[in-house]
Amino acid sequence: MTAKILGGKEVADAIKLEVAEEVRNLPFRPCLAAVRVGEDAASKVYVGNKVRTSEELGLISEYHHLSAETTQEELLDLVEELNRRDNVDGILVQLPLPKQINEKVVLEAINPEKDVDGFHPVNVGRLASGQNALVPCTPAGVIEILRYYDIGIAGKHAVIVGRSNIVGKPMAMLLLQNDATVTICHSRTKNLAEITSQADILVAAIGRAGFIRGEHIKQGATVIDVGINNFSDKDSAREFFDESEIENRLKTIEKRGFTLVGDVNPKEALEKVGAFTPVPGGVGLLTVAMLMKNTLDAAKHRRKIN
Ligand code: NDP
Repeated sequence: MTAKILGGKEVADAIKLEVAEEVRNLPFRPCLAAVRVGEDAASKVYVGNKVRTSEELGLISEYHHLSAETTQEELLDLVEELNRRDNVDGILVQLPLPKQINEKVVLEAINPEKDVDGFHPVNVGRLASGQNALVPCTPAGVIEILRYYDIGIAGKHAVIVGRSNIVGKPMAMLLLQNDATVTICHSRTKNLAEITSQADILVAAIGRAGFIRGEHIKQGATVIDVGINNFSDKDSAREFFDESEIENRLKTIEKRGFTLVGDVNPKEALEKVGAFTPVPGGVGLLTVAMLMKNTLDAAKHRRKIN
C-alpha cells in the first residue's frame, strides 16, 4: 500500500484564501497585534512570518517589539492597552518570554475575546465544555488537515502522544468533539507502543526527533506528526530517510547545519501508514493560517458579524 502524503501547504493556502476573501468583504480590516519580547531567534522568524501573512491577507498588523529587559509590569501595561483599544481584534504574545516575566500571568491578562492563540483559561474552558472558543492554532490545523483530506474522525481511535497545553490537550478535546475515542499518552505512560499501535489516528506531539518508530504504528493508520526538531547527525540520517530523500537531506545538513524532522521516524512510518503528514511541509504550515482565521473570527465575534 502506498502512503498518502498529507501536505500542509494546499490546506493552508485554501484557508488563507478563504480568510482573504472574507476580509475583502468586511466593512473594516481586522487587526492583529503581535508582541515579541527579547531576542529569541526563532521567535523573530515566527512573529515576522505572522505579521507578513496578516498583511498579505489584508489584515492590519501591529508589531510591538520590546527589549529583553522589559519588566512584567511594562508588558502587562501594553497588554492592557491592546485589550482596551477597540481597533485591535487579536493579541498574540509570542512565547517564550524572558525569565523575569511569568508567562501564565501575561497570557491570563489578555482579553479572552482577543486571545487568538487560544491559551487563556476562559478559552480552554470553553473548548472543554464544547462552547464557541478561540482554539489553539496547531491542533485546530490538524483537524483542518483531516477534514481537507477526507479522513473521517468519528468512531476512530485517536491516540495523542503529548499532553502540553498548547498541543496535546487541546488536540484531545478537538478529536473528542469530532467523536473520536481518544487516548492521551505522555512520558509516564507504560507500554506506549502497545497503545499507539491500536490508533487509527496517531498524533505525535513530543519534541523528540523520530521518537515514534514502526513498532508504534498500526498498519494503515493515519499519522499526524506535529513535532519540529533540528536534526544534524549525518551518521544516523540513513535510519531516518529513505533513498528518495537522503541525498537532499544530507545536502541541507551540509548547507544549513541541520534539517527539520518530526517526532516520527519517516522512513519506518512510510512502510506502515495509510496517510502521513511530512516534516517539513505538514502541520507546521497550518499554524499561521489558523492564527489568521482566529483573528478574523475574533474580529467578527467582537463586532457581532456572523
Ligand atoms: P512539550 O515539551 O510542552 O510537551 C511534550 C509532551 O511530550 C509532554 O506531554 C511529554 O510528557 C511528552 N513526552 C516527552 N517524552 C515522552 C516520551 N518518552 N514518551 C511519551 N511522551 C513523552 O512540547 P509541545 O507540545 O509544545 O510540542 C511538541 C512538539 O510539537 C515539539 O516538537 C514542538 O516543536 C512541536 N510544535 C509544533 C508546532 C507547529 O506549528 N507545528 C507548534 C507547537 C509545537 P510529560 O507531560 O509527561 O512530560
